Amino acid sequence: MNGRTDNKEKIKGRSFAKKVFELQKKRASFIYKKTMLKVAEILKTSYMNSVVSLWNEFKIKIAGGVATLAAVALICAVSNLLNWSFGYEVIVDGENIGLVTDKSIVYTAIDEVKSNLSEYFGKEYVYEKEPVFVRRIVAEKDLATKKELEKQLLSNIDTMVEACTVAVDGEVLFGVSDESAAEWVLSKYKQKYTSETITDDMIVDFCEDVETDTAFVHIALLKTPEAALEILSGNTSELATHTVKNDDTLWDIAQKYGTTVEHLLAINDSVSDNIKEGMEIKVEKAVPKLSVRSVQTVSLTEPVPYQVEQIKDDSLYEGRTVVSREGKDGSARVLARITKVNGIETEKDVLESETISQPVAKIEKIGTKKRPPTTGSGTFINPSYGTLSSRYGRRWGRNHTGIDVAGSYNSNIKAADGGIVTYSGWMSGYGNYIVINHENGYQTAYGHCASRSVDVGDRVAKGDIIAKMGNTGRSTGTHLHFEVRKNGQYVDPLKYISY
Ligand SMILES: [Zn+2]
Repeated sequence: MNGRTDNKEKIKGRSFAKKVFELQKKRASFIYKKTMLKVAEILKTSYMNSVVSLWNEFKIKIAGGVATLAAVALICAVSNLLNWSFGYEVIVDGENIGLVTDKSIVYTAIDEVKSNLSEYFGKEYVYEKEPVFVRRIVAEKDLATKKELEKQLLSNIDTMVEACTVAVDGEVLFGVSDESAAEWVLSKYKQKYTSETITDDMIVDFCEDVETDTAFVHIALLKTPEAALEILSGNTSELATHTVKNDDTLWDIAQKYGTTVEHLLAINDSVSDNIKEGMEIKVEKAVPKLSVRSVQTVSLTEPVPYQVEQIKDDSLYEGRTVVSREGKDGSARVLARITKVNGIETEKDVLESETISQPVAKIEKIGTKKRPPTTGSGTFINPSYGTLSSRYGRRWGRNHTGIDVAGSYNSNIKAADGGIVTYSGWMSGYGNYIVINHENGYQTAYGHCASRSVDVGDRVAKGDIIAKMGNTGRSTGTHLHFEVRKNGQYVDPLKYISY
């Protein structure tokens, strides 16, 4: 209160005291008149003083009451202005989880958390914490929403942590500390599964549906970014079969499937270091949880494969092919949109193609001439040129088992009929010696050869060159010793041929 009001009050007080005094004075003058006048004068002063102090006391009380009322009015006005109201501070487990005006929102949030956790853990989640409500005046702007209460309640549960979760096709695989950690993991993963460096003109995305979200997860799901990368790369393994290719080594196979040689040997009992083409080997391959798809438009120089032209040739035996001109690939400049999944090309759309050089066709001659039979025909041809130098039969006391044909050194010796070679080697007396079984009861034999050009097991046709004429073994001069056997018995060759 200011001074002026104070003075006013004082004046008010005085006039009130004066009135009371005037009344008393009238009564006094009536009773005592003059004798009491002096006393009254003294009394007047003291009385006036006491009444003034009384008034002052009263006035303070009034003022106090007015102040209280004024304060209440002020609070009402201000709280109206700031949207303050009576509410509660909610305490769970000794921690303030928020301010509310309505207790029921807290119970609804608890129910929601309970049902979410039950769903999350796959069984009834026991939540025994009871909220405590402390009365308070609360500002509307500080009130907690149901969502915020749920978050606070979850953070109050020891096993649950807030994380940035990464879900693939709806399945939460892990959580990392925050959004930027999740971004790091996903971009590293893209880099890892794209065969080359990711450039600006590449579109890189995931084949699966990937979602990040901020949520409470069980603490076991919270991973470091490096561990999260491992999870995406797939620590699950799938058993597959690898068919060994021509130049595969165990090391190549191990590399291909992201495993070790030791591990391959451990899961394949029958496999040792010497693997062969076509062999089947069990492998465990890591199956990535995510597939990275990259699309890029590239300009390439590509070979244009040559064609093969085949020409029939009746001077070549059937089954024989002779290349008369080698082929040569051409080349083309190609603009193509290439789609890769995990670095492996899955699609190629050729947008433009321009030939730089034309291919040159390969020309092959294909034999059409009928092969002579390699079985005995029953008739013989002369096995060599030359002159008869010795006949079959008994001469000078010993039996000559064939005929001798003298000719020039290294001239051809031919098979007298088709058949299979049953002997080709050195034979005492005969030198280089060949026997052909004609598989019809007849055998022919050829001795003293300079060289042999067939081996045991070879099938020969009538007229095929099998050796060269020579002078090996017990021989005096270049000649062929030719024998014919019928059912194992020597017979005279000149019954079948003539010189
Ligand atoms: Zn002889």
